[in-house]
Amino acid sequence: MCGIVGVVGNRNATDILMQGLEKLEYRGYDSAGIFVANGVNNGRLIKSVGRIADLRSKLGIDVAGSTGIGHTRWATHGPASKENAHPHTSATGRFILVHNGVIENYLAIKEEFLANHEFNGQTDTEIAVHLIGQLVEDGLSVLEAFKKSLHLIEGSYAFALVDSENPDVIYVAKNKSPLLIGVGEGYNMVCSDAMAMIRETSEFMEIHDKELVIVTKDSVSVQDYAGNSLERESYTAELDLSDIGKGTYPYYMLKEIDEQPSVMRKLISAYSDNGQVKVDEAIIKAVQEADRLYIIAAGTSYHAGFAAKNMLEALTNTPVELGIASEWGYNQPLLSQKPLFIFISQSGETADSRQVLVRANEMGIPSLTVTNVPGSTLSREANYTMLLHAGPEIAVASTKAYTAQIATLAFLAKAVGDADGNEKAKAFDLVHELSLVAQSIEATLSEKDSIAEKVEGLLAKTRTAFYIGRGNDYYVAMEASLKLKEISYIQCEGFAAGELKHGTISLIEDGVPVLALISSDEAVAAHTRGNIQEVAARGANVLVIAEEGLARETDDIKVVPVHPYLSAISMVVPTQLVAYYATLQRGLDVDKPRNLAKSVTVE
Ligand code: GLU
Repeated sequence: MCGIVGVVGNRNATDILMQGLEKLEYRGYDSAGIFVANGVNNGRLIKSVGRIADLRSKLGIDVAGSTGIGHTRWATHGPASKENAHPHTSATGRFILVHNGVIENYLAIKEEFLANHEFNGQTDTEIAVHLIGQLVEDGLSVLEAFKKSLHLIEGSYAFALVDSENPDVIYVAKNKSPLLIGVGEGYNMVCSDAMAMIRETSEFMEIHDKELVIVTKDSVSVQDYAGNSLERESYTAELDLSDIGKGTYPYYMLKEIDEQPSVMRKLISAYSDNGQVKVDEAIIKAVQEADRLYIIAAGTSYHAGFAAKNMLEALTNTPVELGIASEWGYNQPLLSQKPLFIFISQSGETADSRQVLVRANEMGIPSLTVTNVPGSTLSREANYTMLLHAGPEIAVASTKAYTAQIATLAFLAKAVGDADGNEKAKAFDLVHELSLVAQSIEATLSEKDSIAEKVEGLLAKTRTAFYIGRGNDYYVAMEASLKLKEISYIQCEGFAAGELKHGTISLIEDGVPVLALISSDEAVAAHTRGNIQEVAARGANVLVIAEEGLARETDDIKVVPVHPYLSAISMVVPTQLVAYYATLQRGLDVDKPRNLAKSVTVE
């Protein structure tokens, strides 16, 4: 969600900013802009609504210089418009600022300090840059004005500020929103995400909340808001640029769906040795010591938590409770004596989860983060991390991260179960079972054309749809319906098959698509079949996705069965393809659904 990139001391600043913004596109945005300082007319500021390609088409050869900042905006205050796009400027135009996050007290600041200022748009960000400009007018140095503003501003932010009268410096600060420094030879960078800088450098430096950083072409100095300097080592990250290419695929989503068998195999090699599951001893101990596991997550990750719940409870013998991160502050359950919080987040930057983690840390509650991104905020701030090893996930709709999350939690459950001598764990050969899952996914992937065909008549025109299932299939139905609605814009509900008749069945009428999931065992399958009859009798257009063995001749998509603990992984794959093809058939951009962001960095 939103992206910031900045560079100081490199003659190709414009090119670096544009490449960086393109790499940040996947996070989701609605408008974009860059400022490049070139000593002429205080530099050039270019903004546009829509895609980076539109912004690029507006650049002339005069947009050149060695310092600049760029931004992709995901609107929170004021609509997506050219006026509201970043960078924003101070009243005189001297200061230029990009911001990710939400300034909570922007109206109070406006009233108290900027009563006679005029603004171009409605953003909270414009207030911040006017404030800095005003404080400098009032006699403070740039650094003092920035610092004072940081003391006054409440909320979440990553800021990069340029003074057009001294463009050899970028002033940076962060609180809650992601931002990191890229260290180059004779130049330095700042960015929301390492991936967007790896073409230029693989050396990075972290910034923590409430730190201010002064970045020049050959120095990076970090200080706290009181002005004390802080030591900060840089680190080298092993990231591979080829990982973020689409290759020959038309969309990242399809590439990422296809990568799932290899992700399963990568997880096997990351979390096992010669058939023996290996998970950090300290993590196993943390689970053993807990009397209850609280999984806190959002969106797809929340659904992955459900898909792993039964398995975690069976193998660790510990109750598992799920919480929606954004609701935790209002609906926190009564905590047990010895809780362990498990955060699941693809990006490791999910602001909603992070605010729960901050509270957990204050309360001294131990925590584990399950994430795809090493060094991400949730990883750094939790006691323990388990990585998903899924490679970068670029498509907004999560696919391989979801399946990797379930598989990673399976390794956790199995490792704890083994350490406890749990009988069910002993009988569960996870390494073998997961390699069967990889094969089952491969079998489904080889049926793409036929899945695309089945979807065509069913979902190309509809406004609504339902997924139904029981047991683990219900949890998969929740995720399958989220996938369908987020990219195809079909209003879809994931429903417990037996619950439909308690009200929602009134929505079933002629032609409403109902997609039924059947895995588990005969008894469960028989009940779900009964529910299929109920909706079919009321005119529903039913598509059945069933495990072979439980499947009937007439079922539409058949899935090679896997161990019940892992069935959510193999059952979700056809539903990912259903969402993908329905979206294509409706003529929409699969990778960039409207209004959504990949990394949700605002609360
Ligand atoms: N709150 C700011 C705005 O609405 C920044 C949004 C963002 O993080 O992109 O402009």
